[in-house]
Amino acid sequence: MSQARIEYRETDRQIWEEELDDFVPERILDAHIHCYWRSNFPGDPPKHERADADLQTLNQWAATLYPARKMQYLILGTPHPGIDVARHVESVRQEIEGVPGIRHHRVVTPACKIEDIERDLQNPQFTGLKPYRTFSVTGDIAECRIHEFFPHEQMEFANEHGLWVTMHLSRFHGCADQHNLDDLEQYTTQRYPNIKWLLAHCARSFTYWPIQHAVERLREMPNIHYDTSAVTDVRPYVTLLTQENTQRIFWGSDGVAAAFFHGQYVAQGRAWQHYDADEGQLQYPHCDGRPILAVYEQLLALKFAAQMAELSGDQIEGIFWRNAATALGIGEKEGAANE
Ligand SMILES: [Zn+2]
Repeated sequence: MSQARIEYRETDRQIWEEELDDFVPERILDAHIHCYWRSNFPGDPPKHERADADLQTLNQWAATLYPARKMQYLILGTPHPGIDVARHVESVRQEIEGVPGIRHHRVVTPACKIEDIERDLQNPQFTGLKPYRTFSVTGDIAECRIHEFFPHEQMEFANEHGLWVTMHLSRFHGCADQHNLDDLEQYTTQRYPNIKWLLAHCARSFTYWPIQHAVERLREMPNIHYDTSAVTDVRPYVTLLTQENTQRIFWGSDGVAAAFFHGQYVAQGRAWQHYDADEGQLQYPHCDGRPILAVYEQLLALKFAAQMAELSGDQIEGIFWRNAATALGIGEKEGAANE
């Protein structure tokens, strides 16, 4: 049963009604969202206060955030340190079984055995893998390279089966990092040509800088895609929408915990940081507006960038739904998860 509290304020409603309702298409495939169950952790529940989020929670949020839209989801495994991977995989499997319009990328750590991954991936709703930097064998979660948290053995498996891999790049410069670019180029063009990469958070470009430096090389690589999750700065979107093939861009929110709070991912020069306005001490003496949900900041940024890039309605519909639905093999007739 869902336990997350939906905190939707008058300022959110105003932004939806006045700015977003006419921008967000009828169908949405959220290609970056997570379920979470505290029972997936061994022993005592984790110390942090994070509410459970099941499919009902995702649908309740969707009904509030984007009223009357048909929702489909690419639910990503939650790569929280200490999680019991097998238990989490089983929770997701049970939760989504038989529900149309849902695909899943299974969490993988370097400790996962290929035979277990292979067994789980026989489920047709499981279309890919979700490695994560916090499981790096080097112990350095900030500066690790792809193979240090996603071992070659698992990449070989993914290549053999033509799997998707949702990749949150590590290293300070994200997609602009020389090692990351060299690795992705080698993997996509030579070593693992069948892996389909979905680079999370605009290829982890929360500021203008990484994607501006990487886009020329990334757009030449085959099998590269982007999700928009948690990026609230308009500039990375402008670069992507004007310089990349928009069919490679998928809407993603990073809900619930990482996007459905009031605040944003603040870009300050080349630095960026999650900022929860309810925990900050800012005063607002010069305006009557108040902070809005980060996912709405993201939608506003995407809308502005789409206007600047002069995207067509068809391209916008593609980003919100068709690009990901086609890529993940969700046919026209497959229903929505919230009907
Ligand atoms: Zn995420």
